[in-house]
Amino acid sequence: MAVITDALCPFCGCVCDDLTIVTENNKITEVKHACKLGAAKIMGHHRIKAPMMRKDKHSDFKEVSYDEAINEAAAILASSKRPLLYGWASALCEVHKKGILLAEELGAIIDNTATVCHAPSTLAVHEKGLPTSTLGQVKNRADVVVFWGSNPVHAHPRHMGRYSVFAKGFFSEKGRKGRKVIVVDVRKTDTANIADEYIQIQQGSDYMVISALRAILSGHADVVPETVGGISKEQLSKLVETMKAARFGAVFFGMGLTQSQGRYKNIDNAISLITELNSFGKHVIMPMRGHYNVAGFGQVCSWETGFATAVDFSRGAPYYNPGETAANDLLMRKETDAAMIIAGDAGAHFPADSVRHLAKIPVVQVDPYWNPTTEVANVVIPVAICGVEVEGTAYRMDGVSLRFRKMIEPTHPTDIEILEKITERVRELRGE
Ligand code: SF4
Repeated sequence: MAVITDALCPFCGCVCDDLTIVTENNKITEVKHACKLGAAKIMGHHRIKAPMMRKDKHSDFKEVSYDEAINEAAAILASSKRPLLYGWASALCEVHKKGILLAEELGAIIDNTATVCHAPSTLAVHEKGLPTSTLGQVKNRADVVVFWGSNPVHAHPRHMGRYSVFAKGFFSEKGRKGRKVIVVDVRKTDTANIADEYIQIQQGSDYMVISALRAILSGHADVVPETVGGISKEQLSKLVETMKAARFGAVFFGMGLTQSQGRYKNIDNAISLITELNSFGKHVIMPMRGHYNVAGFGQVCSWETGFATAVDFSRGAPYYNPGETAANDLLMRKETDAAMIIAGDAGAHFPADSVRHLAKIPVVQVDPYWNPTTEVANVVIPVAICGVEVEGTAYRMDGVSLRFRKMIEPTHPTDIEILEKITERVRELRGE
């Protein structure tokens, strides 16, 4: 029996680093301190046992060798005129680097799961920058915490305990008692149920509400109507006073803000609000990143290509224009004629029209797990689990890079090995 302490969790953007893992005979027998989501992933479930292929989408999968699957994957991608390489968020940074190399080799478009969550945040950060901090600073200092369109009780179960609400820190010895917690959301979530104040906002009115808060903050309450987005002017003024009085205020926003009407302009406006609040106290804002290394893909893609996501290599040099080059733009226009989905589940999270197009074109899936993308795949290549069976680097939601150690030895090849072989085969097929 072996015990690994201070292990990292490869599930959500919190990347908790205090887990204890018990292993025996190269099997994980116990996961301590993780939430249910993290423990379930580390213990393993729905693993794909062997590579599989099928002639068309209606036939059954047949098990094949890794070489056969890799050859077929390379043939699909090499013969494609507009290949899409999508996913990446549940893989380590070392995998991202290999994926970007393959995209360049193919002249493909490479995009990650942020396209259906926080890519609008990236656009806003281009325009306004990001007044932010580490989660450690929030733990040690925050006295007012706002969750806007995010529900950590379900999506990031240990966020509140480790960093933002219940955690006691150097300047926040009272923990929960010393913090005012506010939830702004269209529905009363479980996070709202444990907040000090719940502000119910009308669907699609976030931009207007943030603008009203900014007007009140800058002394122009007279131009604000009596009700904005279903919230009374009195409640908005109270919220401004609470935020203004904070020593250290932290806003954590989720897809309720990024994927509702206004999209990146909501985030742009929220960043401006936080910048203006910094005239009164210290204030920070942070996206609640979902997958544990979705932030890492943005980092690697930025330093490799100059852009954080949705990069098109078809022109011979990186080109980026979300709205044109993001995964769903391509799929909705039925422009892509082959796709590789790796470490992400397009089948579960993309709009129906995009999935319908995926169901019509050749799809290669590289993933440890059977998931809805498997149902639209032609070639399925199972891999080792990054962060459990493979060591490497990931970026937590606050941009802190953390090093994962291997918990057990892999029983499948790694994503890196598969990507290297596909790239090598693509070069051979193209006579390079
Ligand atoms: S909160 Fe997230 S990172 Fe932490 S244990 Fe749960 S799933 Fe893992």
